[in-house]
Amino acid sequence: MVSLSSYIKKLGEKMSNMQPWKQNVASIIDFAEKIFPDVEVVTRELSGKISTTNYKNISLRAKKLGSALEKFGIEKEQCVGSLALNTFRNMEMYYGISGMGAVMHTINFRLHPEQVVYIINHAENRLIFLEPVFAPLLEAVQDKCPMVEKFVLLCAKEEMPETKLKDAVSYEEFIENGDESYTWPELEEDAPCGLCYTSGTTGNPKGVLYSHKSTLLHAWAGSSANGLGLQKNDSILMVVPMFHVMGWGLPYLAPMNGIKLVLPGMGMDGAALTELIEKESVTLAFGVPTIWLGLLNYCKENNIKLESVKQTIIGGSAVPYSMIKQFDEEHDINVIQGWGMTETSPLATANLKTPAMEKLSKDELYKLQTKQGKPIYGVELKIVDDEGSELPNDGEAFGRLLIRGPWINKRYYKFEEDAVDADGWFDTGDISTIDPEGYMTIVDRAKDVIKSGGEWISSVDLENVAQGHPDIMQACVIGVAHPKWDERPLLLVVPANDKKDKDDIFSYLDGKIAKWWKPDDIVFLDELPLGATGKVLKVNLRDQYKDHLIS
Ligand code: ADP
Repeated sequence: MVSLSSYIKKLGEKMSNMQPWKQNVASIIDFAEKIFPDVEVVTRELSGKISTTNYKNISLRAKKLGSALEKFGIEKEQCVGSLALNTFRNMEMYYGISGMGAVMHTINFRLHPEQVVYIINHAENRLIFLEPVFAPLLEAVQDKCPMVEKFVLLCAKEEMPETKLKDAVSYEEFIENGDESYTWPELEEDAPCGLCYTSGTTGNPKGVLYSHKSTLLHAWAGSSANGLGLQKNDSILMVVPMFHVMGWGLPYLAPMNGIKLVLPGMGMDGAALTELIEKESVTLAFGVPTIWLGLLNYCKENNIKLESVKQTIIGGSAVPYSMIKQFDEEHDINVIQGWGMTETSPLATANLKTPAMEKLSKDELYKLQTKQGKPIYGVELKIVDDEGSELPNDGEAFGRLLIRGPWINKRYYKFEEDAVDADGWFDTGDISTIDPEGYMTIVDRAKDVIKSGGEWISSVDLENVAQGHPDIMQACVIGVAHPKWDERPLLLVVPANDKKDKDDIFSYLDGKIAKWWKPDDIVFLDELPLGATGKVLKVNLRDQYKDHLIS
């Protein structure tokens, strides 16, 4: 008898008899080409025209792109920039660029132009793909990006606008000489595949460099029963932009599972989205709360019920109780809240409907659905106090939320230092509770929590309650300086109608929140400032209202 350890020694370095895993995300589109060739990918193009392609065509064109990139001289591990909307061409780039071994570097075109310049230079982009509508933005800054050799505009030759961009060419011309029978190369273990920068509300944006392995694992986990709740017959509307944390993994998850994708391009308003939802029988929609707020209002004003949609997955900021209720009561749509961040690929927790939830009253259900959910297998969560000691998972204790796992950032791109502690835990910058059942609830972002006389007030909880008032469309709570209590909450409100009655709002809050949480004042605004990923820019508001309670 040969013992296992001597057998392993005989095998050399190999510890088992299983086959090695050749990691390349392009294996997903190869698979979809063979197994789900006819599954549709629908795009609202910039012209407004709705066009349909399928996974087979996307795969073949991605190969043409991969080979065209090779001919251009793009080398493995070089970052190729993109300022692109959700369209079929962006899907092709996701596979063509990463598949040939380069890095799909998605750039958020809503960032300040100076930040776009910083990101392009930091990532050393030689080649940039862009929608024709973003040509003016890049024309204005191209002199500050000396490393960029060529710009490829995401359109056909006849759609090319007049442009001063260096060596500009249309996407269709660029891939024309590519080879449809190109084979994806074998890549190094842990090869990089995608690069996404945080929005950098303070300081420069930081890059998170995803690997083929982390992306594939993330897509598998997202497809699992505790993942994103995908069903075989779904038609997925991907409102979440493909520049925001790799489109929450959907460009990989959908073809991996042979699920139809509906891509809204530029059309993010209520009219455009409802048209697409109805026409393409969308069953599952992904996006941030601010987009859904617009859609829900549009539907209300126009008496529209979203008949085909069964579920919507919302993340990026806390989903208010009132939104969960409105989706259910007015559209019979179940809200699945998800939590994650650029540094977590992003999927980390999800709040999926369980059999136990069926037994709850509507009010209990909506309350439970305001929680950010349970972790998906692969990620671990814990909460700690300021000294780093772990806090109990009793649903009461709150502290800094730490996370670790194979699709969690270890070190920011080009940083010398790790972003994790000695045990691999990454500090999310969020303050949370975890309850005995494993549900994680975000209390606040550490920088948004209000510190009143040494006690903490959760701006998220206050917003949640305020948003339930029928005359409030959107509520935002910030901490502002106070002579006695250091900081006190200020409620900023976008009214739903002409009524701007502070007393009525104060009496609505009475009894729903602790007395000392009551905001010191209410300010009515026409709109709230939004950041590049659709989140309310609390930093700007804090700055603007910092002396509101002092003067
Ligand atoms: P940005 O670049 O806009 O900051 P991220 O997606 O990386 O983009 O932001 C991550 C942060 O967004 C999280 O740390 C958390 O504070 C917040 N967030 C994401 N999802 C939720 C959610 N479901 N509820 C509350 N906050 C959320």
